[in-house]
Amino acid sequence: MSHNHEPTDTLGPAGVRHVVILGGACAGLTAAIYAARANLQPLVIEGAEAGGQLMLTTLVENFPGFPEGIMGPDLMQAMRTQAERVGAAFITEDAVEVDFSHRPFRIRTQSGEEVRARAVIVATGARARMLGLPSEERFLGRGVSTCATCDGFFFRKQDVVVVGGGDSALEEALYLANLARSVTVVHRRDQLRASKIMQERAFNHPKIDFIWNTEVADIVGDGKVTAVRLRDRVTGEVTERRTDGVFIAIGHKPNTEIFKGQVETDAQGYLLPTHGMMSSVEGVFVAGDVHDHTYRQAITAAAFGCMAAMEAERWLQGEAALTPEEHWGTAEPVGESNAGAPKGGPGKGARKTARP
Ligand code: NAP
Repeated sequence: MSHNHEPTDTLGPAGVRHVVILGGACAGLTAAIYAARANLQPLVIEGAEAGGQLMLTTLVENFPGFPEGIMGPDLMQAMRTQAERVGAAFITEDAVEVDFSHRPFRIRTQSGEEVRARAVIVATGARARMLGLPSEERFLGRGVSTCATCDGFFFRKQDVVVVGGGDSALEEALYLANLARSVTVVHRRDQLRASKIMQERAFNHPKIDFIWNTEVADIVGDGKVTAVRLRDRVTGEVTERRTDGVFIAIGHKPNTEIFKGQVETDAQGYLLPTHGMMSSVEGVFVAGDVHDHTYRQAITAAAFGCMAAMEAERWLQGEAALTPEEHWGTAEPVGESNAGAPKGGPGKGARKTARP
C-alpha cells in the first residue's frame, strides 16, 4: 500500500485537509469513497496494518454483491482501490496522537508528520480479544474464528467450541447451534457473566453443552483445527477434545487509546456518537466498530462510514458559511458538541452550524 498523499493540494490554508479519516478498513474506506465523490479530497491515515479485521478472515460470504463470496483481504483491497480511484489519498501509518481541542484538528502519525483537518472521521475499529496462544494465530481463518455470523456457515453439521462466558459467547453459541452438530462452551469459571435470559436460552438448547472451570491450553491441527487441549483450572488435568472449529468470544477492545480524554466514550472505551454520527467533539465523526459493539459486520461498518461521510460533508457545508478567521485563524477551542449552542470567542455568536 502506497504513501501517495500530497498535503498541500486542498482548499483553505496550505496543509489543512477538509476531511481526514482515521482507519483504512470497511468504515474508513467507505467514508473515503463518499467523501472523495463529494469533492472533499479526503486523506486516509489507514494504519500500518490497514484493512482491519477482514485481513484476518478468509472467505466472506455475507457481503452483498459477491455470490461466490470474496476473500477478506481481496474485499479490502478492492475498497481501497475504489477509494483511491475516486481521489482519496493515503498515509500507510498509524495515527499516534490527536489534538481535538482546537481547530483545525491535528493528527500526528508514527513518523512524526502532522496533519491538520477541518473534520475528522474516526474509523479505527476494534479488535477481538484473543487468548494469546501461538496456535490461535496460526489457525485464524482456518478453524479459529472470532465471528460466528461471519464463519458459522462453514461449520454446518460439525462440532465447534466457543470460548467465553459473557453475552457474546452465548450469542455465538446460540447462533452456531442452528448450524453446527454440537456446540461446547468452554468457560474459565463455574459461573457465566452473561445475562440471565441468554443463560436460560443456552442452558435449554439441546445442542449446547458447557465445560466449566476450564481454559483452552492449545489448539491442535494439521492445516486445519482438529482438537483443543483443555486444562481444568481446579485439578490441573489436561485433556484433548476433538473439534472442527474454535470460536473465541472473550470480548472486543475498541482502538480508541489515542482519543482518551478528548472524545466521550462508554465504560468499555467505545466512542459515543452524540448527534447522528458526530462525536462529543463538534467536527469529529465516528464510524464502524470503534463505536458499534452491536452489529460488528463489514456491511454495517461500511454503512456507518457512508453515514459519517455524508454528515461530515453537510457539517462542512454549514461551516463554510463562516468567515476565514472563524475557520482557520483563531485556533478556536473546541467544546463538547451541543446542538445549536454558539461557541465562545470573538465573533462566534453569529456562527451558523448546520448539523445533520
Ligand atoms: P464480557 O462481558 O467482557 O465477557 C467476556 C467473557 O470472556 C467473560 O466470561 C470472561 O471470563 C471471558 N474471558 C475474558 N478473557 C478471557 C481469557 N483470556 N480466557 C478465557 N476467558 C476469558 O464480553 P462480551 O461477552 O463480548 O460482552 C461485552 C458487552 O456487550 C457486555 O456488556 C455484554 O452484555 C454486551 N453484549 C450484549 C449482547 C446481547 O445482549 N445480546 C451480546 C453481546 C454482547 P470471566 O467471566 O471469568 O471474566
